[in-house]
Amino acid sequence: MNYITEAMNRAKLTNCQSDITFFQALEEVLTSIKPVIKENPKYLENNIIERIIYPNREIRFKIEWLDDKNNIQVNNGYRVQFNNALGPYKGGVRFHPSVNPDILKFLAFEQIFKNAITGLHIGGAKGGADFDPKGKSDKEIMKFCQAFMTAFYNSIGADIDILGGDIGVGEREVGYLFGQYKTLTNSYDSIITSKPIALGGSKGRASATGYGLVYFTQTLLEDMGETLKGKICTISGSGNVAIHAIEKLYDIGAIPVTCSDSKGTIHDPNGIDLALLKQIKLVNRASLEDYAEERKAATYVKREDYEGGSYVWSIPCFAAFPCATQNELGEESAQKLIDNEIKIIAEGANMPTTPQGIELFMKNKIIFAPAKAANAGGVAVSVLEMSQNNSLNYMSAAEVDEKLQGIMSKIYKDIKKTCDKYSLGLDLASGANILGFKRVANALIAQGV
Ligand code: GLU
Repeated sequence: MNYITEAMNRAKLTNCQSDITFFQALEEVLTSIKPVIKENPKYLENNIIERIIYPNREIRFKIEWLDDKNNIQVNNGYRVQFNNALGPYKGGVRFHPSVNPDILKFLAFEQIFKNAITGLHIGGAKGGADFDPKGKSDKEIMKFCQAFMTAFYNSIGADIDILGGDIGVGEREVGYLFGQYKTLTNSYDSIITSKPIALGGSKGRASATGYGLVYFTQTLLEDMGETLKGKICTISGSGNVAIHAIEKLYDIGAIPVTCSDSKGTIHDPNGIDLALLKQIKLVNRASLEDYAEERKAATYVKREDYEGGSYVWSIPCFAAFPCATQNELGEESAQKLIDNEIKIIAEGANMPTTPQGIELFMKNKIIFAPAKAANAGGVAVSVLEMSQNNSLNYMSAAEVDEKLQGIMSKIYKDIKKTCDKYSLGLDLASGANILGFKRVANALIAQGV
């Protein structure tokens, strides 16, 4: 039996059989590190595979809170502190009805390698709750955040585990989570990032993931003598990542023409109206149906009226940026993009492309920029936020942006070097996994048992 089968069997025995998203991410990493395992016996000798496939700690807690009608509501909260070989646990918190132990284990596992790829000293974790912020009043959001923090604040700390934003957790939620931590502990420790500027947040954090995604894609394309300038780009999602990716695409002269939410897709052939999108999503917290009402030039396709994945992926484009959620771009959608002669996919969400989709892109020599590398700008600026909080030395927006560009370009160069070393061509997904794995594994070995 080879190490992959052995590790997968063990993982399946020690987890629920239904943890399929975690198994998917695990198998992908284990498969792509083959050349390193073959090259250097120290990894198997030090039992590294078994040491990275189990989370260090999984915390599960119950959250009770009172809604506006004084009804008692109950949600499930989680934090998976997967690996802290490289530094304190770091990773976002997600509030979404789809949150469950499988999704968080997968996200925490991916976060280990993403964080390692940035070259910064942070471990990997993820947390969240099966709470749906949609339709909740501001007071209900605050009460939920307070109850969430109260339930597990004693498991985190500025050099133990630092939370961050993710789907359903933006500046507002982060502010309430931080406020409750401060009340409970009487400390202003940097235990969460993506804070509002008023609470010591970093300039440029809100835009970092979306901007970083575009910086990474530009660096990669420049290396191949290409550019995004003047090119049609499709984007899925309409949250923080999608909005800022669209903003940066405009800055560099590209033409972003789509966005989507849980109810449907907008195709605006002359380019998305960014001001309108921001108003609807960031201010009104409303549906894209409102966008279609305002912009008659745009087409709106309801999710239930379109079969075969998202309508976004049927639009011809040069570059596609899946920025909504995991496994949103499957084989059928990948085939449509290939038929329409797509050149590059760059993942803004975490693992938005299914393994079958990735396989098709690779077979057709479409450049594929994996999330671990392409969306690492968010967590990288989170670390800049931590360092500003700890040093009390705050950076200007321009300084943060310059550092973000430097980090994204270094990530690309390090992955490219890894691809060259292991003769992987442009298989950036394998290059990223190898780079992240080696950093984590070497740190584990250096620490002893
Ligand atoms: N949620 C983001 C990610 O998936 C950022 C995490 C953070 O800032 O801790 O990487």
